[in-house]
Amino acid sequence: MNIGFIGLGNMGAPMAYNLAQAGHTVLGFDTENVTVEKVEILPSARNCVETAEVVITMLPNGEILQSVANETIRYMQEGSIFLDCSTVDVGSAKLVAEKAKNHKIIPLDAPVSGGIGGAKEGTLTFMVGGPDDGFSRAKELFNVMGQKAVHCGGSGNGQSAKICNNMILGATMIATCEAFALADKLGLDRQAMFDVVSTSSGYSWSMNAYCPAPGIGPQTPSDNDYIPGFSSDLMLKDLSLAQIAAKDVNSDTPMGNLAMLLYKTFVEEEDGSGKDFSAMLPRFEKKTRN
Ligand code: NAD
Repeated sequence: MNIGFIGLGNMGAPMAYNLAQAGHTVLGFDTENVTVEKVEILPSARNCVETAEVVITMLPNGEILQSVANETIRYMQEGSIFLDCSTVDVGSAKLVAEKAKNHKIIPLDAPVSGGIGGAKEGTLTFMVGGPDDGFSRAKELFNVMGQKAVHCGGSGNGQSAKICNNMILGATMIATCEAFALADKLGLDRQAMFDVVSTSSGYSWSMNAYCPAPGIGPQTPSDNDYIPGFSSDLMLKDLSLAQIAAKDVNSDTPMGNLAMLLYKTFVEEEDGSGKDFSAMLPRFEKKTRN
């Protein structure tokens, strides 16, 4: 396929490379001066989209996505696909989808889970909102960039699935970290704590697959000085998006809200920025009740 790829950062660059490596023609654009092996970098977003059958965006937020959509959609070919893989607010995803439909472009919102490692290895999971025919046509590309793509329904539902997943993830990571810190103070050995919880009803992905305690369980960012991985900053972003969505639909999400506030304090007032989101454990180690 002819692919236009806009936003070649930590995630976009390896995704674009994997597509080119699989034999697709990839034209790329980023506002920064970037190079990606096998991807031809063009001087503007417009240049990338004019001949593309699929335009992929991997951008920082909804505002930037909307401005890129405004710059590009009108130059895209009728019937082509606008596939946004960024994590953005549900409202922006729906607005961009509306704009695309008005220009006879097929919109897909397809945020990912799996992080930079998943982007490099081509093992991302895509949560996809948008029409059936768009999902079917993009499947070939999801298979190159990832290992799983779930069609979640209409436009915006990919973003809804992503923020609900990450709201659970943020809350369970905090619960796992505070339980480890409590266990420490009670004199319980961390390995024993892991062995019990990972095979009991407290188990979760945060404990079993991404254990925040160094030297326990599988290899995780905690074994590498909490270098991300998935940063606390990005967790804060996703938890904030979940709260925006919850307010929009008047849904009561007290755990999600508290998780957002804890990551906000961690990132903005403590030393959490730039650290993996599992670095909540050393944070709780240092804390007392008062
Ligand atoms: P990044 O900041 O490394 O990359 C974003 C890129 O977009 C940058 O290279 C930037 O220069 C470029 N850009 C900004 N404005 C632009 C514009 N107007 N036109 C073209 N390019 C522009 O961020 P990232 O880590 O690659 O994340 C991208 C998206 O993926 C975000 O929405 C993030 O929430 C999501 N995400 C990231 C991870 C992760 O682990 N990094 C995991 C899951 C989802």
